[in-house]
Amino acid sequence: MVRLTELSRQIRAAPGPDRYSLATRLWSGRSVRNAVYTPVKEALCSMAPGRERCMYCGDNHGTDVDHFEPVARNPLRTFDWLNHLLACSNCNSHQKRDRFPCDADGRPLLIDPTAEDPADHLFLSLSVGEYKALSDKGARTIEVCDLNRALLARGRMQARRVVAMALRGWRDDRDAGDAAGMAEKVLTIREQPFADVCQAMLRQATAPGADVIFSDSPDLIALLCSEPLREALLA
Ligand SMILES: [Zn+2]
Repeated sequence: MVRLTELSRQIRAAPGPDRYSLATRLWSGRSVRNAVYTPVKEALCSMAPGRERCMYCGDNHGTDVDHFEPVARNPLRTFDWLNHLLACSNCNSHQKRDRFPCDADGRPLLIDPTAEDPADHLFLSLSVGEYKALSDKGARTIEVCDLNRALLARGRMQARRVVAMALRGWRDDRDAGDAAGMAEKVLTIREQPFADVCQAMLRQATAPGADVIFSDSPDLIALLCSEPLREALLA
C-alpha cells in the first residue's frame, strides 16, 4: 500500500485549512479510484464475513468504503488503511454519515472493529435479535448505526433459525458419516448474512447461563460446543 502512504504525505504537506478539500478531491478523483479505492475495496471484501457484508449491519452487501473516522473530522486519515471499513450505502450515507461521537477527553465513542472486539461492548440478545450495550461506547454505537432497527432484529432472528437448522443438519450428516453434507452445512452458515448471530451463539453456548439462553433448544449447546464444528466456523 505504498500509494496510501504517498497520498497521506500529500495531505499532510498541505496547509491545515486546505487538507479537507484536498483529501475529498483526492479520494473521489478517477486516478485514485482506480489505484486506491478499488484495491482497498477488494481487500476489504475478501476480509468481510459471509458474502461481502456491511461491517456495521452485517446484512446488506458492502458497496462502499466507509471512513471510520470521517474525512471532515480528520483528513489525515483519508488514506489510512485502518480507517477503511466495508459498509452498505444505507449505513454509510444514512445512518453513520459524519457522526463520530467522542468522550470528554476526545476518545471515540464508536467501536472500532479493526482494533477492538465488539463483544466487549455489545451483547446480542438471541431471543429478540437486538443488541444490548455493555458500555457507553456500545450504547453510542447502537444509536449512531441504528443497530436495533426492526429490519435488522428480524433478520437476526431469521439467521438464528437458519443456523439452528444447519447445525442439526450437520449433526445428522455426521451421524450418517456424510462428510460432504457436513461441509455443506458449514458453508451455509458461513455464507449467510448476520455472521454476528452465529458468533454470538458460539460465544454464549460456552458462557455461564447457556442453559437459560438456549432453554428452547438445549440440543444446540452440545453442537455449538463441538470442537470440529467450532474449528470449521471460527476459522
Ligand atoms: Zn449496513
